[in-house]
Amino acid sequence: MQHGPLRNAYLEVLGIDRWVPRNAPADVPAEPALAPRGDAPVQVAAASARQASPIQAPAARAPQPAPVAPLEPGIDWGPLRERVASCTACELCKTRTQTVFGVGNERADWLIIGEAPGAEEDRQGEPFVGRAGQLLNAMLQAIGLPRDTVFIANILKCRPPGNRDPRPEEVARCLPFLHAQIALLKPKIILAVGRIAAQNLLATDAPLARLRGKLHAFGAANTPLVITYHPAYLLRTPADKRKAWEDLKFARATYHKLAGVN
Ligand code: SF4
Repeated sequence: MQHGPLRNAYLEVLGIDRWVPRNAPADVPAEPALAPRGDAPVQVAAASARQASPIQAPAARAPQPAPVAPLEPGIDWGPLRERVASCTACELCKTRTQTVFGVGNERADWLIIGEAPGAEEDRQGEPFVGRAGQLLNAMLQAIGLPRDTVFIANILKCRPPGNRDPRPEEVARCLPFLHAQIALLKPKIILAVGRIAAQNLLATDAPLARLRGKLHAFGAANTPLVITYHPAYLLRTPADKRKAWEDLKFARATYHKLAGVN
């Protein structure tokens, strides 16, 4: 747990505007609204580069959506990673650079769940690696959670083109992977970041504002679930970082109570 000057430094990071150059391209979506993630310009540039490249694989070579076999009950991490990497269950397989399985400690107590890979995540194959990822790291560190102590995953394993919102059929086909990850990880607490993650985990269309500030339960195990803003939204709306801090403190207190830690 971080205390004193170090924690204050992280809180300062969470609260200051220099994280958010006003004209810099943000790399994720406006939170309560339906605007596409702010890394759309990057995506467009990448798409343009692909079109301009004479050696770019033609569309006909891209994976095509095809039915996939249900996951085996009790599937382990390795086979699950392979299933995700080769998945063609929805249209997103045609436009992804690679799948983004998730990253972190496979024995973590904390599972962080976001929405879907953005441009940088699609390139690197890891969730939350851009500016939003840096802010997420700072947010986690502020409650004493270095990134390598948690597991981080998304609702979708492939990037939606233009960072549009995931479509219901994409979520329906991809969620079994997340459920399998949760079954393997058995987290003590889940922190959902952003409207898309929260709504899909809770099967609700309630706005984020109504989902924050209360303790939810996920799945048959009734895993405690806390909702907060997506860090990309916070980059665009730094005034809400204070509310995010309240959410993080609530999540930390919930975890400590469960774990019997004072
Ligand atoms: S988003 Fe999920 S269901 Fe769709 S192709 Fe990627 S891994 Fe498969």
